Amino acid sequence: MYVLEHLDQAQKPLFSYEIIPPPRGKSARDILDVVEQICSLDPPFIDVTSHSAEARYEELGDGTVRRRVRRKRPGTISICGIIQNRYNIDTVPHLLCRGFTREETEDVMIELNYLGIHNVLAIRGDETNYRRTLDSSRSTNEYAVDLVGQLGNLQKGKYLEDIANSEPINMCIGVGGYPEKHNESPNLKSDIRHLKDKIEAGADYVVTQMFFDNAYYVKFIKECRQAELSVPIIPGIKVINSVRQLTSLPKNFHVTIPDQLVDEIESNPKHVREIGENWAVAQCGDLLNCGARCVHFYIMNDAGAVTRVIKRL
Ligand code: FAD
Repeated sequence: MYVLEHLDQAQKPLFSYEIIPPPRGKSARDILDVVEQICSLDPPFIDVTSHSAEARYEELGDGTVRRRVRRKRPGTISICGIIQNRYNIDTVPHLLCRGFTREETEDVMIELNYLGIHNVLAIRGDETNYRRTLDSSRSTNEYAVDLVGQLGNLQKGKYLEDIANSEPINMCIGVGGYPEKHNESPNLKSDIRHLKDKIEAGADYVVTQMFFDNAYYVKFIKECRQAELSVPIIPGIKVINSVRQLTSLPKNFHVTIPDQLVDEIESNPKHVREIGENWAVAQCGDLLNCGARCVHFYIMNDAGAVTRVIKRL
């Protein structure tokens, strides 16, 4: 089922989840254990993130350094295939512009179509320390809006080269939105203008970056609606479960953690899990009361905290 259909047909608030594939060389068992824990929460859909290649440098001990380029976490498509076909839960693989060519994106969409996966989240990806050199027969999508455009063409059966009687690929397309604005945007208004471009290019719904203060989300929704952006906007929530996240989340995701939450955790670090869960319960309760139809949880492979939050909700 499409994500939009889940949202339209829901009789009660929905909770969706986002997981990340295991690191290269590790078994898929741990992530499937997480999926099995989530199954008990009756998820409408599960997102699986995607990761482009990065360069890593290894000292070889003889004074020289070796550069290796690799994707740290491959496996997005196969994990989606397992979840959808073994556990019968709809999946949303993330597709990236950065690190992938349009030709590879088209191939992935063909694989997804064969697997019966008809939801994707179209994302630009961040700059990594590795940029592939491409020959002139390959092309790339610069921004998420370009990727959405390519997916829109596939929905019409338009592949990168003309194919007679080509099969359209049906899909529901999500995109990312930023209640605190994207870190590269000069301001929220400009960011929302680019978000609107993605919707006009064919995206069906938005999932937001995590935020810890609902005031950002309320303002974001208000400004999106004023900009005549009418698609569903699903709030993204992260349950803080370690003191280290007070610095790692702002650094990696460019989000603000409210004073009250920081003060509570810093004055009582041993109870960080309980404080993080209480905060998430209050935040989600408030979002649902304000009319959110679905809340999306960034699980990052620890289902315990989110499971407790959902049970309390
Ligand atoms: P875009 O929509 O392309 O926007 C990027 C920036 O460019 C914004 O500042 C925007 O305002 C601006 N912009 C857009 N179009 C134009 C234009 N035409 N001209 C000038 N400026 C423009 N990262 C991963 O690596 N893997 C994942 O699986 C992943 N999943 C994510 C899921 C969600 C829900 C979200 C919110 C983010 C996710 N990210 C992921 C992080 C994401 O890759 C970064 O935030 C990235 O920097 C921006 O991606 P985007 O799709 O929002 O980009």
